[in-house]
Amino acid sequence: MDEIINDMERFAEANNVPIIEHDSIEFIIKYIKMSNVKKILELGTAIGYSAIMMATASDDVEITTIERDEKKYREAVKNVNRAGFDKRIEIVYNDALDVNLAGHKYDLIFIDAAKGQYIKFFEKFENYLNPGGVIITDNLKFHGLVKNKDQIESRNVRGLVTKIEKYIDFLKENEAYITKFYDIGDGLSVSFRKNDENVQNID
Ligand code: SAH
Ligand code: MG
Repeated sequence: MDEIINDMERFAEANNVPIIEHDSIEFIIKYIKMSNVKKILELGTAIGYSAIMMATASDDVEITTIERDEKKYREAVKNVNRAGFDKRIEIVYNDALDVNLAGHKYDLIFIDAAKGQYIKFFEKFENYLNPGGVIITDNLKFHGLVKNKDQIESRNVRGLVTKIEKYIDFLKENEAYITKFYDIGDGLSVSFRKNDENVQNID
């Protein structure tokens, strides 16, 4: 397994694929173990790195992960097969906003796809959360740029940062959830649904 992980890290580096940071995936794995998470939905597979890492947390974990880019999807399928996780990781090749998961519920929803669409993802997929489930979101610091918006030259990137800021406000103002923000990796949030009475301290 270490070799597969190393190869994926090298591939990501060489091909500019943004994969989750070590501290962040360790945090998520800890949460999976601690809360006995069984069903996970991931938005944004890329090459399958975070999905494979999450699957290593426990043999009981089953993951559905969605990727809209064909090349990355193919690479992810290869990696998942190589890791021997094809029975526990289902990769859906589609735009997450077009996927219908009716009838399915998840203990953990990991939002890690297009940063400009986070609010849309949250509003669509919160309906698929099991009681006691949480929504974890990655890259809330957007490579550190969220704090340094004035220095960003690209209008495009500045626009994305604004959207992440709006998402952070959306989480803070969302009465139905308690969201905790963690300064780990590129910035993570964990949103607990309030009426679930399961709000936990993870660290
Ligand atoms: N979770 C991965 C990294 C994901 S990078 C890891 O840590 O290993 C973000 C991915 O989301 C990219 O591969 C991109 O193609 C995909 N993506 C972006 N918007 C999407 C959407 N609307 N639906 C599905 N995939 C999307
Ligand atoms: Mg990420």
